[in-house]
Amino acid sequence: MNCQNCKTITEEGYSLCEACELRLAGTLLRLARDIMPLHDSLDATLHPGGHSPVRIQTATPPTPIRLDVLDLIDMLDATARELWRCLDGIDALDWHNDPRMEDLEATLIACAGHPKLATFGDAGFYMATIDGLAWKVDAVLDPPEQRREIGTCELCDTMLTAGTADQWVTCPVCGSEQRVQTVKLRRLKKLCWDDSKRGSAADIAKAFTDAGITVRRNTINVWINRGKLQNSPQGLAYCDVYRLVVGGELDKKLTVTA
Ligand SMILES: [Zn+2]
Ligand SMILES: [Zn+2]
Repeated sequence: MNCQNCKTITEEGYSLCEACELRLAGTLLRLARDIMPLHDSLDATLHPGGHSPVRIQTATPPTPIRLDVLDLIDMLDATARELWRCLDGIDALDWHNDPRMEDLEATLIACAGHPKLATFGDAGFYMATIDGLAWKVDAVLDPPEQRREIGTCELCDTMLTAGTADQWVTCPVCGSEQRVQTVKLRRLKKLCWDDSKRGSAADIAKAFTDAGITVRRNTINVWINRGKLQNSPQGLAYCDVYRLVVGGELDKKLTVTA
């Protein structure tokens, strides 16, 4: 059989391959965690800051409740309950007899851990539906225009984006969660390890400071004047600045925040 999602060969009787099963379970769990911030986002007088902890008061809103968020929660609720019944093999005609009263969060968690998640017949269809909903939830919680690239995923090398106040980022491809600070430091470290990477004093100061290690452009210029740094037509080498500024400090920070 082929995986209904990615089409790779799967074991007999499986609708999803192991990787897709893991990803679907991960997405369901992530959605369960997003329920509370989603409910917080219903209040149109607040911008809840999505995945980030900071709340920002916005100007007077057009309606007290964000109807788009309400619709999204309803859709997620209906889909999750439908999925759970499918997983348990409850026929659509009998759904009104389903005695379960669990809330949406519990329903999502139950689906994520369900033993039939990779074997039930409509797994591929539900995976696509759940992915679409997760994408919409992310768009509500972290409006895209506030996000910018911070570095690549440790596991799958996908470029990750984060809002300015985000502390954690979830990889859209492999679903792994990483600390924003760690991703930025790792990117800086990569720049510093590759001795072909060059930049101006301003570029380099910005790259370090952005990753949480304050380096002033002036300081770099002083090092050039004192002959501690060699400037070239292509610019300064990140690795030279790295050696002067941090040395062990970057390694220490990566170990602490990993
Ligand atoms: Zn697959
Ligand atoms: Zn990844």
